[in-house]
Amino acid sequence: MWTLEDEQALREDLIEKIISKANDGDGMLSRAELGSFSYAGQTIRVIDSQGGIWNPGASWSLGEELRATLSINTTKSGKYEDQEVSGGLWRYDYQSGGTAGKNTKMRKAMELQLPLIWFVQQDSGRYVPYKVFIINDFPDQGYCLIAPDLSLATASRSESLIERRYAQRLMKQRLHQPAFRARVISAYETRCAICRLGHGQLLDAAHITPDSDETSSTSVTNGLSLCKIHHTAYDINIVGIDADYTVHIRRDILRETDGPMLEHGIKEMDKTKLWVPPAAADKPDPARLEVRFEEFSGH
Ligand SMILES: [Zn+2]
Repeated sequence: MWTLEDEQALREDLIEKIISKANDGDGMLSRAELGSFSYAGQTIRVIDSQGGIWNPGASWSLGEELRATLSINTTKSGKYEDQEVSGGLWRYDYQSGGTAGKNTKMRKAMELQLPLIWFVQQDSGRYVPYKVFIINDFPDQGYCLIAPDLSLATASRSESLIERRYAQRLMKQRLHQPAFRARVISAYETRCAICRLGHGQLLDAAHITPDSDETSSTSVTNGLSLCKIHHTAYDINIVGIDADYTVHIRRDILRETDGPMLEHGIKEMDKTKLWVPPAAADKPDPARLEVRFEEFSGH
């Protein structure tokens, strides 16, 4: 068996590679892809072939047994009641049978504070990967609590109300953002709605009504798939988008002369049409765009 340090390092590296692979595209991976994931020159299984809990044994292709569960998954049709609980934590149901069987290695992940991957299935049938920790469990009730970060999980139970609220808000964001990104980027077929750039790692799911606004929403209709440059330009009102999906570039920027990024990447986008998803339910909400456009126009 690996040393604990080696296993820790392997898990960190593997989790990072899985998330990065998902973000090369629209942020999701299929069960088939997770069943034969390329890692360190090997093809390895990183999701259980049928159930929710994957405990790689000695026959795992990397050749060593892991001390603790590597991944858990939540399917749309799963019988387990996985859900968000108060305080930004999520509940994951153990397999029936108390602390025995596959649950033993779940408890090990908690004891050793080892990170694991949580695959959450989306409507598309594919999975968004999250790095998570098991922070507490209730074997008698058959479930554990998971969080995206150990120190945030501790802070979320702090005596200080400010610290508690801050940690809970961050954890909520960490858990909602990847699923929002996946829904938006896949609706836009992994392209920037302004310039059509098609590299997942260079794309963000931008909010039309900002996340900090209480009327914000995690619906695709409050999202835009934008490349990093156009996302920032939209956030700081260099780019505006009106309710008819026309792109506007701020006037003082149009008067500037500079290299190809400014000329082609930004100025030439003025008065072009935004590319929006074909499905009506995915198109950006004109009312939300209008509010943001007023802010751009007043600039
Ligand atoms: Zn772009």
